[in-house]
Amino acid sequence: MALPPASMALALAEQGLRWVAITWVNHAGAPLVKVVPLAGFEAAVAVGVGFSPVADAFSADGAIAPGHRLARPDGDLRLRADAAALAPLEPANGWAWAPGERYERSGAPYAGDQRHLCRRQMEQLERARVELRAGFELEWLVASPAADGTPAPAIPGGPYGADRLVEGLDYATALLEALEAAGLPWLQFHPEYGAGQFELSLAPGTPLEAADRLVHARLVIQRVTRRFGWRCCFSPKPSLERVGNGGHLHLSLVRDGVPLLQGGEQEAGLTGTGAGVLAALLAELPALLALACPLAVSYRRLATGSWSAPFQVWGVENREAALRLVPTAADGAPAHLELKVADLAANPYLLLGAVQAVVADGLERPRPLPPPVSGDPSGLPAGAAARLPASLAQASAAFAASDLLREALGEALHGALGDSQAAEVRRAADCSEAELVAASAWWPVVGGDRLKGGQAGAPQPATITRLRPAALAA
Ligand code: GLU
Ligand code: MG
Repeated sequence: MALPPASMALALAEQGLRWVAITWVNHAGAPLVKVVPLAGFEAAVAVGVGFSPVADAFSADGAIAPGHRLARPDGDLRLRADAAALAPLEPANGWAWAPGERYERSGAPYAGDQRHLCRRQMEQLERARVELRAGFELEWLVASPAADGTPAPAIPGGPYGADRLVEGLDYATALLEALEAAGLPWLQFHPEYGAGQFELSLAPGTPLEAADRLVHARLVIQRVTRRFGWRCCFSPKPSLERVGNGGHLHLSLVRDGVPLLQGGEQEAGLTGTGAGVLAALLAELPALLALACPLAVSYRRLATGSWSAPFQVWGVENREAALRLVPTAADGAPAHLELKVADLAANPYLLLGAVQAVVADGLERPRPLPPPVSGDPSGLPAGAAARLPASLAQASAAFAASDLLREALGEALHGALGDSQAAEVRRAADCSEAELVAASAWWPVVGGDRLKGGQAGAPQPATITRLRPAALAA
C-alpha cells in the first residue's frame, strides 16, 4: 500500500477497520503489541507509541531475566508503525495490523531493534544490486490440553492425510478465509506428518515482507485455532514422542538480474558466486543456529531422522541437510536454498538480518564449497558430516565467537542477545526432558511460570472457553 498514512487510515475506516495492533518481536522471539485507534495511526507512524527497552530482557516465559543488560527500569523507546506494511488482521471485527520498529526519543533508530537490523541488511544488499527473496513455511500442532496439561492432537487423521483435511475441514476453511481476509499470500497448505500437525507455506517476498508475513500469519493462525476452542502449538517440540515443528526458511538470490543459484557451471547448476554464498552460510551455521533455534527445547527437535536437518552439510534435495538446494525446475521455478534447521521460536527479523549479513559477506569473500552430501548424514563415517551444536549453550558460544555477526548486529544488539541466550540456558538448567518440553509446549502462549514444575506455561483446561464460530453453531 503506497498511500500516505492519513489517506490509508481513511481507506481502512471505509472498510470498517477501527483498531491497529502494532507488533514487534523481542529477543525471546515473542511478538509484543500495542493497539491504537485508527485516528491515532498517523501519530503512531510519525511519532510512535512508548515501549520500555526492558521488554527485550523478557525470557521465553515472560519473566524479566535477572542480570540481563536491559533489565533496567529507565529509558523509553518509540515503537513506530510501518505504514507501508499496514494490513487487515481480522477485518470483520474491525482489526488491522502493522509491524513496528523502535526509535530513540531523539528520533534516531534504536540500535537494538530487530526489524531495523533486517531493513539495514536489506538496504546493504540492494546497494550491492543483490535481490534476496525469502519465504517461511510454518508447521504447527492443533491441540487441546490432555489431563496432564500436555498438548494432545485435536484433529485426527494420518500423515499428509486427506482424512485429516476432511476431519478438520471447517477449521481449514476458516483458516484459509482468514488468511485471505488478512491479505496474506500463501502457496500451499496441508496436514503435515505429525498427528494433528498442519503446514502453511507463505509466498516469498523481500526479507522484510517475509518476516512480517510470518508474524502476521502466526497471529491469524493462533486466532482462528482459538475460535475453535483449540490451541496451536508452534513449539519446536510440543511433546517428546512427536516430531517437531519447523519454520523452514527459503531463500533465492539474484544479482544484476542474474540468478546465482542456477544456470552456473558448478554442482547442481550453482554459479561460482552462488557457491561462495552457500559456503559462507554453511560455515556460519553454528552461530546462526542461536538465532534460528533460540529455545533450549529447540535442540530436542534437532534429532537425526526427523527431517529437522541437524548436520552442518548441504545437499541437493536432501531433507536431512541443514541447507537444502532445490534446483530450478523444468517449469521455470527459480532455484532456492532451504534452511531447514530454523524453528518458529526464531525472531524472523533477527534471523533474516543475520542471514543477509552472511550472504553479503559470502559475496565479498567467497569460501570454497565442500561437496554436497546425499543420503542421511548420520549414516556417514564418523567425522564426515559435522553435527550442528546440540544445545543452545553450544550455539550461543558459536554466536558469541562470530566476528561476522558481532559486526553486522553491532555490539549492543549482539551482546544483549547473548544475555537472552544465557537466560534461556539458565531457565532450562537442571530440568528433566519432560519439564523442558512442557515449559515451552504451548509456545507462542507465554506463561509467567518458572520452568520447574512440569506443566509450567500450559493453559489450564478450565480456562479454555469453547467459542464456536457462528458458522459452526447452527
Ligand atoms: N517437521 C519437520 C521439522 O521439524 C519437517 C518436516 C518437513 O520436511 O517438512 O522441521
Ligand atoms: Mg513440513
